[in-house]
Formats: sequence, structure tokens, C-alpha cells
Amino acid sequence: MKTLFEKIIAREIPAQIVYEDDLVLAFRDINPQAPTHALIVPKRPIPRVAEAKADDQPLLGYLLFKAAEVAGKLGLGKDGFRLVINNGADGGETVPHLHVHILGGRYLKWPPG
Ligand code: 5GP
Repeated sequence: MKTLFEKIIAREIPAQIVYEDDLVLAFRDINPQAPTHALIVPKRPIPRVAEAKADDQPLLGYLLFKAAEVAGKLGLGKDGFRLVINNGADGGETVPHLHVHILGGRYLKWPPG
């Protein structure tokens, strides 16, 4: 069965796409937690970072590299931004398809609540 994000990748569910290439897709989060909130996902559906295989290491690096690039493209380069990966139940993961949250546009306090 396809994950929710695979359906977005396949254009079966609409999303506001902000970046796409052969390996990753970035789109705006449907329930933004900051003025700018996007998600970037690998097209290959790794369930979560803890289940990435050794072969996935180049893709993980690429995902992070592109997350920073997309943050810049969304105007967050000057004031800063936060990248978040939720893993498993206590991590707050709700969609079992690896994704990096890109958050910015306001001061993000630390630690998060
Ligand atoms: P998680 O909690 O797994 O780290 O993050 C999942 C994210 O996916 C949440 O921030 C949630 O708002 C977002 N989300 C859930 N369903 C949809 C959807 O249908 N479209 C979009 N664009 N985002 C979604």
C-alpha cells in the first residue's frame, strides 16, 4: 500500500509543491507549525530514519543537503530555520515515510515543548 507521501509524489493527493527532482519532493505542510513549514521526502519510501539501510546513506545526505537548499529557496536563509525528523511514536512521527520538516519565519524556541 502506498504511503500518504507516495500518493503526493504520484499526484494522487494534491499538495503545494515547492521543489522536485528525481530523488526528492518538497511540499508545504497541510498544518503549518510556523509561518513557513514544508516537508522534504525521498521518493524512495524509507519508513523512518531508524530503518534506513546502509545503501540509503547517500540519499540521506542528499535529503539533508536539499532541505537546506529548499529552506533558502523559501526565504529562510537570512534569519535561519529548523530541520526536524520525527522518528517513531515518542518522536511524534505520524506518517511512516521519512520526511524532514523545514520550519521558519519566526523565532523557534528551544527546547521544543
Ligand atoms: P510527522 O508528525 O510524521 O513528523 O509529520 C507529518 C506531517 O505531515 C505533519 O506535519 C502533518 O501536518 C503533515 N501532513 C499530514 N497529512 C498531510 C497531507 O495530506 N498533505 C500535506 N501537505 N501534509 C500533510
